[in-house]
This record gives sequence, C-alpha cells and structure tokens, in this order.
Amino acid sequence: LVSRKWKVNSTKIDLGDGVVIGDGSFSIMAGPCSIEGEENVRATIKHLKENGVNIMRGGVFKPRSSPYSFRGMGIDGLKMWYNIAREEGIKIVTEVMQVSQIEEMYPYVDVFQVGARNTQNFNLLDELGKVDKAVMIKRGISGTIEELLYSAEYVFSGGNEKLILCERGIRTYEKASRNTLDLNAVPILKDKTHLPVVVDPSHGIGIRDYVDSMSLAAVMAGADGVIFEIHPLPEKAASDGQQTLDFQQSAALIRKMKKTYALR
Ligand code: PEP
Ligand code: MN
Repeated sequence: LVSRKWKVNSTKIDLGDGVVIGDGSFSIMAGPCSIEGEENVRATIKHLKENGVNIMRGGVFKPRSSPYSFRGMGIDGLKMWYNIAREEGIKIVTEVMQVSQIEEMYPYVDVFQVGARNTQNFNLLDELGKVDKAVMIKRGISGTIEELLYSAEYVFSGGNEKLILCERGIRTYEKASRNTLDLNAVPILKDKTHLPVVVDPSHGIGIRDYVDSMSLAAVMAGADGVIFEIHPLPEKAASDGQQTLDFQQSAALIRKMKKTYALR
C-alpha cells in the first residue's frame, strides 16, 4: 500500500492551518532534543517564527541509552508545550514510545514520531494505524530500507495514511560519526513509495559542525523535509547537545536550505 505501484501520486499530509508535508513542499522542522521547560519552548518558538518555520520537534518521552540520563518532562511537559505552540500557530512533532501513551498524548500532538528504537514495535505501529493524526516513522538503528517500508505498511494497512518516513542514520562499523546518514535512502524511498521522506541530519551524523553539510546534501538528494535539533545554549541541552545547533547556526542553515531547495 505504501508503494508507488499502488498509488502513483505523492502523498501530501495536511496538518491544518496551511501546514503541509510532502508533494512539492519543503518542510523544515526544528526544536530541542528534549522539551526542557517553558522558557526554552518560548525562545525556540520565537526563533522558529522569525525564520518562517511552523513545525517544532521535541521529546517529552525520551528513549535514553542509560536509565540515569534525563528521560523527558512527560505528559505535563507536552501540555505546557502545546498551550504555547497553539497560541503561536506552531505544529508539534514528538515521540510516542508505547501504546499506552497514545491516548493521553493524542490531543496535544500533530505528528506522532516513532523513534529508531521502536521502528519494529509492531504493536505500537498497529495502534498508530487506528489514529487519525500524522505519524513519522524513523528508520531503525540497524534497519534496512525494506524494513522501514514494512513498518510503514503496518500503519497504512491499519487505516492511517498520514505517514512520513525519516532517514536518521544507521549503525555501521564507522566510529567517526554517531551514525552513518544513509542519503542513498532518499532517492530510493522517493522512487519506491508515495510517502514524504524527511531527513534527520542531527542524529544522522551526530556532530554539530557537520549538520549543515548533511542537511544541504539531504535537500539536494530530494528530501521532502529536514528535521534538526536546536537549543539556545547547546552545551547546556538536557540531551544531544553535541549535535545541536544554536539559534544563529539554525538561522543560517534555514537560509541556506531555502536557497538550495530553489536550485532543485
Ligand atoms: C530524537 O528524535 O530525539 C530521537 C531520539 O531520535 P531517534 O529515534 O532517531 O534516535
Ligand atoms: Mn535527540
């Protein structure tokens, strides 16, 4: 069902208020790795609006390698974020980690993100198939392109056709970067499916100074959007500071992506 053989025209996802993902539009989504508090949310939204971005990312349920790391503000953090974002006309993309969170998160979410550690959580995918909100599925940590497509198939066949695919790097033998961003996936996925394909260069390379290059490469590879991590003080971020851009770097990147997209 997610194949172009089944549906030739590219899928366009309408988040409402004129915000669309896919089919000829280029979407920029940015925000902190973790939602950290009201001040951070307000500062981020101000920065996004100044730069013409209307979709904000952020985690409130964080899948951390160590149980002692910050694991997110939870549902109260999401409600706080939502109240500010709605006021400001900003859409929310945030990770859902398990089935039991879907219902409580539902009113406050525009795009449910399925994280790389949950790409093959088939029960979660089944349940998201019953939801009438957009879902963005990240490629699994060691997942193949075909496995990502089968994960999408779970959600789509359950009845939810508002699906976005996200290349976020895979684990390889390479140690010079956090992950290996597989930009090969972009033209391959664009060819094989009608779904929008977004790239996450922050997790893909994992090193702040290189996020810029890989974002621009993603644009030229044909991505429908880029999602990246920003923070007013990246060194102070509660998670993933090493791959997070400050607002000045973010503004410069947004400018460059728009210029690059115009060349496509
Ligand atoms: C994230 O987006 O902050 C995240 C945890 O991503 P991934 O699932 O790709 O590691
Ligand atoms: Mn992160």
